[in-house]
Amino acid sequence: VALRTAEIIAVGSELLGTTRIDTNSLYITDRLSGLGIEVHVKSVVGDDRSDLAAVFRQALTRADVVVFTGGLGPTDDDLTREVVADVLGLPMTLDEAILDKIRARFARRGLTMPEVNRRQAQVPRGAIVLDNPNGTAPGLFLDHEGHAVVLLPGPPREMQPMFDGVCAGPLSERAGAERIYRTSLFITGLGESHVEQAAQPIYARWRDGSPPMATTILAAMGQVELHLSVRDADGARARRMLDDARGELLGALGEHVYSTDGRKMEEVVGDLLKARGLTIAAAESCTGGLLMSRLTDVPGSSAYVRAGVIAYDNADKQRLLDVPEALLAQHGAVSEPVAVAMAEGIRARTGADVAVGITGIAGPGGGTPQKPVGTVVISVLAPGADAYVRTFQFIGERTQVKFQSTQAALNRVRRMLADSR
Ligand code: AMP
Ligand code: MG
Repeated sequence: VALRTAEIIAVGSELLGTTRIDTNSLYITDRLSGLGIEVHVKSVVGDDRSDLAAVFRQALTRADVVVFTGGLGPTDDDLTREVVADVLGLPMTLDEAILDKIRARFARRGLTMPEVNRRQAQVPRGAIVLDNPNGTAPGLFLDHEGHAVVLLPGPPREMQPMFDGVCAGPLSERAGAERIYRTSLFITGLGESHVEQAAQPIYARWRDGSPPMATTILAAMGQVELHLSVRDADGARARRMLDDARGELLGALGEHVYSTDGRKMEEVVGDLLKARGLTIAAAESCTGGLLMSRLTDVPGSSAYVRAGVIAYDNADKQRLLDVPEALLAQHGAVSEPVAVAMAEGIRARTGADVAVGITGIAGPGGGTPQKPVGTVVISVLAPGADAYVRTFQFIGERTQVKFQSTQAALNRVRRMLADSR
């Protein structure tokens, strides 16, 4: 029977501390997914024999594939090899060919192999040895009563090429023909529960389809994401199902969907500007340049980004953006007339086609009853569209308010460019 489910066990006491994090499992998950094998459980376990054995035994009760990373080193705290052999009841023998390779590796650097490295040449009976061109520890692959057990070294640069080899070789032979196909929709300007309400009746139907579609809703900063996936041996059918479901969701969520191909907001806006041959400039106060930073994160953005001014101080809003002193005095810096004047100022100074003005109170201080923390005013000017200005009330701490402000501003640029097409 084909392998379908996997469990990852990251081994190393250092991974339980505060200075190292398990990243190998992300790489492994991605590669397994390419073979249609889904990770259901993963754990991080210290260098302890009984903990490791217990987690491994449990994994064998629920996963087809068990992948270990770490604990294959030459020292006493490297236990993965021994624990796996022990739990599976496999005797270990010394593999002379591995020993020769390790010796040769030391010899190339003019060193003799320390005796402790002999451990790394121990192989459980029946294991396939996985060559390690980037280190001393070889990996191991075991078929055991319908399970595949993979032992990989911890250092990412050793683990990655080795696991690629396992996926191309023994795992792909045992994985069957089914693959996982995915699509996603990124939504902004609607809360998670509103998205859920609109999407629920649609994906409830696809979930009960054949093959069933898996759906996930994720609330992220400034956006909600819908992820759809189908496991199928027939790639064309899976793609068609995902396209149809995406089409229905687009119909229900409309212009709130900004991306259906994984592109970030700044890429979507950049692509629209490029397609229309337009340039953009921004006058930012509370976002401190974050809008410009996001726009310029995109390679090739020099084709449409003109300039940004960060005018935090009122005097600089006058000096650099020509915001009239009277407006500031009459309405305050966080006000719709000032946001519009900032956008007009940067447009006049740069000649950019699209201009953004952002002014607000990111907190934690500076709020008043009339203008509490999170009050942000955004103005956007674009050719062929009426001037836009709106006061938002964002929730969250400083960095969240800043990000949401740039997300709302970019989203408004997107919608104005799409509407005035
Ligand atoms: P080991 O194979 O246990 O000797 O691991 C050696 C080194 O690999 C560790 O000190 C970490 O720097 C790195 N490493 C081990 N496990 C992981 C993991 N799960 N993710 C990322 N790096 C790891
Ligand atoms: Mg270790």
